[in-house]
Amino acid sequence: MKNYTKVYINGDWITPHGTGIQDVINPFTEELALCVPRCDLVDVDNAVAAAKEAFKTWSQTSAQYRSDLIDAIVAKMEERKEDLCQAAHITMGCPAHLSGVIHVDGPIHGMSTYAKRAFLMEAEEEIGHSLVVKEAIGVCAVINPWNYPLHQLVGKLAPALAAGCTVVAKPAGQTPLQDLIMAEILDEVGVPAGVFNVITGSGATLGPALSSHPDVDMVSFTGSNQAGIQIAKEAAPTIKRVTQELGGKSPLIITADANLEEAMTFAIQDVMINTGQTCTALSRMLVPHSIYDEAVATAIAVLEHFPVGDNEECMIGPMASLSQKNTVLDFIATGIEEGATLVAGGTDMPAGIDKGFYVQPTIFANVNNQMTIAREEIFGPVLCVIPYNDIDEAIDIANDTPYGLSSGVFAKDRDSGLKIARRIRAGLCFVNGAEFNYEAPFGGYKQSGNGREFGDEGLAEFVEVKSIQL
Ligand code: NAP
Ligand code: MG
Repeated sequence: MKNYTKVYINGDWITPHGTGIQDVINPFTEELALCVPRCDLVDVDNAVAAAKEAFKTWSQTSAQYRSDLIDAIVAKMEERKEDLCQAAHITMGCPAHLSGVIHVDGPIHGMSTYAKRAFLMEAEEEIGHSLVVKEAIGVCAVINPWNYPLHQLVGKLAPALAAGCTVVAKPAGQTPLQDLIMAEILDEVGVPAGVFNVITGSGATLGPALSSHPDVDMVSFTGSNQAGIQIAKEAAPTIKRVTQELGGKSPLIITADANLEEAMTFAIQDVMINTGQTCTALSRMLVPHSIYDEAVATAIAVLEHFPVGDNEECMIGPMASLSQKNTVLDFIATGIEEGATLVAGGTDMPAGIDKGFYVQPTIFANVNNQMTIAREEIFGPVLCVIPYNDIDEAIDIANDTPYGLSSGVFAKDRDSGLKIARRIRAGLCFVNGAEFNYEAPFGGYKQSGNGREFGDEGLAEFVEVKSIQL
């Protein structure tokens, strides 16, 4: 894998003004995976200036032109699929055989859904003597975390391009490669200079500069609540639009008459996939007392099918970084201290593994919703199983969280599941194991964020509306 000494600004690969180097550690080997430059505030200004200049012409292009470019990006992403998979493998620690399914196929599809949405920008409405038109909001700073780096970039870049916005992207320190490959792709298909810019380096330094920049019109952020709050504060004096995709502590309600085997297969996969580093993970499982012991036993049995490691059979890789591993181990220790029953996993290294940022997939039973492990986002392969008496209590527990990103229901059938889904305060709900839908809006209630990604709503975030009175 090549090291990058340059970043992509104004359609060129340039040596940044910032002179530092940022190491990316491979989570499997604990060795250096690649290095990228650490940009500084001069680079922020240069990237924003390029995006501001490019906006003048890019925002005036036809929907057809932007749609064709999005199609060309999709084709090139397919061509570069192996590189994108490798990026997920070496930077965020996804087992190689799962990288395509978890980190690349979905984002390529997600990008493709915005080719048609570019045309929504040309849909005008006459209201009396007013013509209401849509216009791109302007220069967008895009700041992403490391857990689904390509997916999170596409969720912002695709609608930005469709709308006619220009972008300055700041990837997470752990996962800069996806954004750099996307810069190569956009460059190759002929996206005009300055429309997409990538600067690498420290979020603590570059983030506030982007958030407070007078020439940035919008910040689209995914990551921790702490950084999300700081961004909103930094953005406030210049009245920017800020969208936030933040944390979650999402519930899965299983009813007494659900198919337990199917429910557990879905639930364990949902929590453990991507080593639990999923903001929508259904990490609080709510199970009625009447089937509690059977449910826990089934969960433990299903977990056997999720081996840890880096070969073709393995379903769970290491944590993306040493610091994330330590965070998860601290949470597991806290769960034990607070009296939850450890029924699988724990704080030791997984058996037979002596290298890599691994933790054991862990299940806690007899968790109550006031415990730390039930309240805080662990962001690791840790499931909490919480008992309930009746469905009203289950819904109260489900909603008793500051978050509201995702949720799930496993019930006897679609209609009884849907009834429960309507009572959960969250932006997403998955009934009876339903799949993710790239055409539908994605985002959180409450402290899980503001705004939506994907679908028509994802485009709307990047749009200003003008009423022209005639
Ligand atoms: P984070 O600190 O919020 O980082 C996310 C992105 O924001 C990275 O690109 C980061 O850059 C940047 N950043 C950091 N400080 C910033 C600031 N003051 N202003 C603007 N941007 C800033 O998240 P993390 O440290 O990687 O993960 C911490 C926790 O956040 C996780 O344990 C998890 O609970 C949560 N998280 C949630 C999601 C989600 O999808 N909801 C995703 C990831 C993490 P650097 O990488 O250079 O610091
Ligand atoms: Mg951080």
